[in-house]
Amino acid sequence: HGGVNAAAAQSPTKWLYKDFNQPVALRVKDLMSRMTLAEKIGQMTQIERSVANASDIEHYLVGSVLSGGGSVPAPNATAFQWNNMTDYFQRSALKTRLGIPLMYGIDAVHGHNNVYGATIFPHNIGLGATRDPELAERIGVATALEVRSTGIQYVFAPCLAVCRDPRWGRCYESYSEDPDVVTSMTTIIDGLQGQAPVGWEGPYVENNYKVAATAKHFVGDGGTTHGIDENNTVISYKGLVDIHMKAYFSAVARGVSTIMVSYSSWNGEKMHANRFLLTDVLKGQLGFKGFLISDWEGLDRITTPYDANYTYSVFTGIHAGIDMVMVPFDYEGFASNLTMEINIGNIPMSRIDDAVSRILRVKFEMGLFEYPFGDPLLKSSLGAYPHRELAREAVRKSLVLLKNGKTANTPLLPLDKNAQKILVVGAHANDIGLQCGGWTITWQGSPGNTTLGTTILQGIQQTVGSSSEIVYKAVPDKNFAKGKGFDYAIVVIGEIPYAEFVGDNNNLTIPAPGIETVEYTCKAVKCVVVMISGRPLVVPPYLLQSMDAFVAAWLPGTEGQGIADVLYGDYDFTGKLSRTWFKSVDQLPMNVGDDYYDPLFPFGFGLKMGLKNR
Ligand code: BGC
Repeated sequence: HGGVNAAAAQSPTKWLYKDFNQPVALRVKDLMSRMTLAEKIGQMTQIERSVANASDIEHYLVGSVLSGGGSVPAPNATAFQWNNMTDYFQRSALKTRLGIPLMYGIDAVHGHNNVYGATIFPHNIGLGATRDPELAERIGVATALEVRSTGIQYVFAPCLAVCRDPRWGRCYESYSEDPDVVTSMTTIIDGLQGQAPVGWEGPYVENNYKVAATAKHFVGDGGTTHGIDENNTVISYKGLVDIHMKAYFSAVARGVSTIMVSYSSWNGEKMHANRFLLTDVLKGQLGFKGFLISDWEGLDRITTPYDANYTYSVFTGIHAGIDMVMVPFDYEGFASNLTMEINIGNIPMSRIDDAVSRILRVKFEMGLFEYPFGDPLLKSSLGAYPHRELAREAVRKSLVLLKNGKTANTPLLPLDKNAQKILVVGAHANDIGLQCGGWTITWQGSPGNTTLGTTILQGIQQTVGSSSEIVYKAVPDKNFAKGKGFDYAIVVIGEIPYAEFVGDNNNLTIPAPGIETVEYTCKAVKCVVVMISGRPLVVPPYLLQSMDAFVAAWLPGTEGQGIADVLYGDYDFTGKLSRTWFKSVDQLPMNVGDDYYDPLFPFGFGLKMGLKNR
């Protein structure tokens, strides 16, 4: 230790790893040399905030805490309350012998979506339709600020799944069925973490206004048979690399800090057990230098049934190359099993040291030792006006115009702002929860006034002239519209929020009362149908014929104004389908490039209104 002076070697406050002027590699090495096995295993442990308490964080030397799904401190906790909670955990971590700060992780998958009052951006399927990587990057910047404003430094996003079958309940978390579109949107990592300098290798987080990102779920999550969540992806190695792994090359090149392992299997083998793909391919060939995190209880699920042999699962997962384990409840069991597997020589210390040095490297790179707490200056970031304007822009750009006019000469859009009487129909027109979808406040999301934002109806009200009368009907009524003098109707229909396996769906029909709503209304008055959904749904030919105009709005998030902006012609449509719109489910899976390709609307489809210069 030629360069380390004697005082630094003795005084804990002067330990080399605490000196931010030292190169990260040296800090990692110095800290590693001081750690006991228990301290190392602690770093590899991530626990759920609902079971986390200060004394266990100190006792088990826990390296990370998460809010899983919608695990919030209170349904409408403020940024201040979130900060109090994360500070409390961080203070416990800093009290440990070596004072290694913990990373607090959360599913900020479309904005800081667990937090009341945060800006909620369109889900990824809509961002894919924008084909705008620069927009995705700006969304990453805004999301990082909102997340940091609550004392959190780590997000489980972006999801780089290439959803090949829309029956999958997570299809909306996927930017596209096309690997190139998914790859292009990895710019969101630059926004979340900051853009790594040219030539940078390894994980990168620019400063304490940025967060560590997670590319997930490695690999093949979007390729399971029939789109069944957590299931088996049957594909050749070449297919796996070309379709499902493609975006990871880009994510690694951008310095993504962490990668989450997929629950799914590849040709029958659980990804959490796949040493070839996790270690040889991802860490080896792709050169990933950040850390690999398991999914929630991902080790438990290595066996069928779950937890048939936890000791075996712990061995298999760690041996395969997982560095941090989202345990997230039985951390005592995890620690004792891992300790045993090391002591009997099943897992070599070199594997543990690889895991821990990767975790510490990320923590040093992101400045966590220097900035373990949230910055009070960020207080006003949550739901800030410029972020809402950005989300509104994203909504506008995500909309895909699928039909405009029963004939080419009779377009309905753009709508007339000065119409006398306007009908708006459908519960989805006036419900923040419905327009946000899953992963909003709660894991599954839900209808209702779940957070702050502008509904589609409110957006329409703020857009039309003051002399226009707007009549709103939440539920369809067979005899309502006819002969009432409406100039046109805006019909908003769609799916009810869901997340993960709960959203797996074999028939993909438009949920009730969507079909009746269109039938009753479009028979009586000129209508534009706006669909709020996490994927294309089956639109029978007669129903499509009855519509004057048809717009796919995906899951737009809190800024419903963006929809009115485009319907009324303040902006033209620019979105293009990020997925193939199938005619019937028996065509599935059907993806662009397939030999048999007979869609209702092809991948990439999207009309324009052709606005005159105004
Ligand atoms: C999901 C992950 C998520 C994790 C933590 C899991 O069920 O598969 O995408 O990051 O939960 O909430």
